[in-house]
Amino acid sequence: MIKKVLIANRGEIALRILRACKELGIKTVAAHSTADKDLMHVRLADESVCIGPPKSADSYLNVPAIISAIELSGADAVHPGYGFLSENADFAEQVEKCGFIFIGPRAETIRIMGDKVSAIKAMIKAGVPTVPGSNGPITDDDQRTLQIARDIGYPVMIKAAAGGGGRGMRMVDDESDLLKTIALTQNEAGSFFGNSTVYLEKFLGNPRHVEIQVIGDGEGNAISLGDRDCSMQRRHQKVVEEAPAPGITDEERQAIMKSCIQACQNIKYRGAGTFEFLYEDGNFYFIEMNTRVQVEHPVTELITGIDIVKEQLRVASGLPLSVTQDEIKIRGHAIECRINAEDPVSFLPSPGKINMFHAPGGNGIRIDSHIYSGYTVPPHYDSLIAKLISFGADRDEALVKMSNALEEMYIEGIKTNIPLQLDIINDEGFKAGGVNIHYLEKKLKL
Ligand code: ADP
Repeated sequence: MIKKVLIANRGEIALRILRACKELGIKTVAAHSTADKDLMHVRLADESVCIGPPKSADSYLNVPAIISAIELSGADAVHPGYGFLSENADFAEQVEKCGFIFIGPRAETIRIMGDKVSAIKAMIKAGVPTVPGSNGPITDDDQRTLQIARDIGYPVMIKAAAGGGGRGMRMVDDESDLLKTIALTQNEAGSFFGNSTVYLEKFLGNPRHVEIQVIGDGEGNAISLGDRDCSMQRRHQKVVEEAPAPGITDEERQAIMKSCIQACQNIKYRGAGTFEFLYEDGNFYFIEMNTRVQVEHPVTELITGIDIVKEQLRVASGLPLSVTQDEIKIRGHAIECRINAEDPVSFLPSPGKINMFHAPGGNGIRIDSHIYSGYTVPPHYDSLIAKLISFGADRDEALVKMSNALEEMYIEGIKTNIPLQLDIINDEGFKAGGVNIHYLEKKLKL
C-alpha cells in the first residue's frame, strides 16, 4: 500500500481524500496556497506544505512546485482530486517520470479521453453508443462537411475536440450558417485550447444527463457502480445529482454498464472514471469521459456501500479492486445538493467569513464539507463549500430527508444557494423525476 499521499487540491475534496487515507493508515501531506492555510484538511494532515500564492496558476496548477513538494515531503503518491491538474496528462506523466505514483489513469489514457475526437473513436470501438456525428475532425473539404451535416440532420452541434467546461460548443440550425460557424468555432478553439480541431454532432433537443461510474485496476479488470442523473444544471454546471437515475429500467442500466466496462477493459483503465451520456427517448449517447473522481461520487457510494476514493488508493497501490461486479448491489436512493457560497438569485459569488455554521444530521444525512464556524471563504476559487447528501430507502424518502436537512442547515455570514436548493427539492417536476438538462434554466427564467 502507498505510504504517504500528497493531496494536490483544496476544499471538500482534499478533506475527503484525507479521510480515506487516514482510514487506510496512509500518511497525508496537504499542499496548499497561502490563501488556504486555515483549511480543515491542512489542520488535520500529518504535514502541510505551501506551494504558492492564492492564484491557482501559481499554486494548485503549479507543476514544478507540486512535484518539489512531493519530493521534499517524502510522499510516494499524489492525489489530484477533481479540477486543477486532475485531467492534465502532462502532469501525470511528469509525476511518474519523477518516480512517484499518480492516483489516476495513465497519462496516455487521460490524453485519449481529453481529446473528444479520440475519446469518441475509443467508444465506438468498444461498442459504447455515441451521438450521431462526424466521428472525426472536420476537414477543409467543405462539400464533405456539408454532406456530413445533412446526413446527421439539423440542428447540429459544432464541438471543439479539446473543449471543456461547456466551452467550445455551438449549435447551428441550418446549412446557411454551417461553414462560417465552423470557422468561428475553430478560431476560438485554437486560441482558447491551443487546438482548433472541431467535429460535428447531432443536437439533442431534450436530453437528460446520465453518467456511469467505473473503476478499473489497470490490468484489464473493471467494475461499474451504476448510474447517476445530473440533469439539474445551470450553465452546464451540475447543481443537484442523484443515484440511481430515475426511470431507467434495470435492463437499460445493465446494458450501458456492460458497454462501459468493456471500454475500460479494452484500454486497461486504471482508477475511477465516469462515462457521461446524454439520455433521450430511451437511448444513451456518449459525450465525454472524466478520468478522475467526480464531485457527485458520494451518491454512488451511498447506494453501493463502496468507498470510491479508497478504491482509487487501492488500485494506485497495485492492489486488486475490493469487490467483483457480482458483489455490487444497488440499494436505496441518494441525492446530493451542491451548497455554493453565492447569491441564490443573482448567482454572484459570496466569499467572506462564516460566523456560524450548523450542520444538519441524522439517519441518512452525509455532509462533505471543509467549512467551520469562523472559516473565511476565499474569493480565489470555486464557490462550492459543502455537499449535502441524503440517503433513503427510496427516492421519496431521500427527498424528504434532503428537504428537512436543507431547512436545518445554517450558514451565517455569507450568502449561499440553500434557498434555491430547497426550491428545487420541493419542485413538483423534480419530485416527479427525470427532468431534462434545460429544466433548471427554464425554471429560473419564470
Ligand atoms: P464539456 O466538456 O464542455 O463539459 P460536454 O461534451 O460534456 O462538454 O457537453 C456539455 C453540455 O453541453 C452537456 O451536458 C449538454 O448540456 C450540452 N451538449 C453537449 N453535446 C450536446 C449535443 N450533442 N446535443 C445537445 N446538447 C449537448
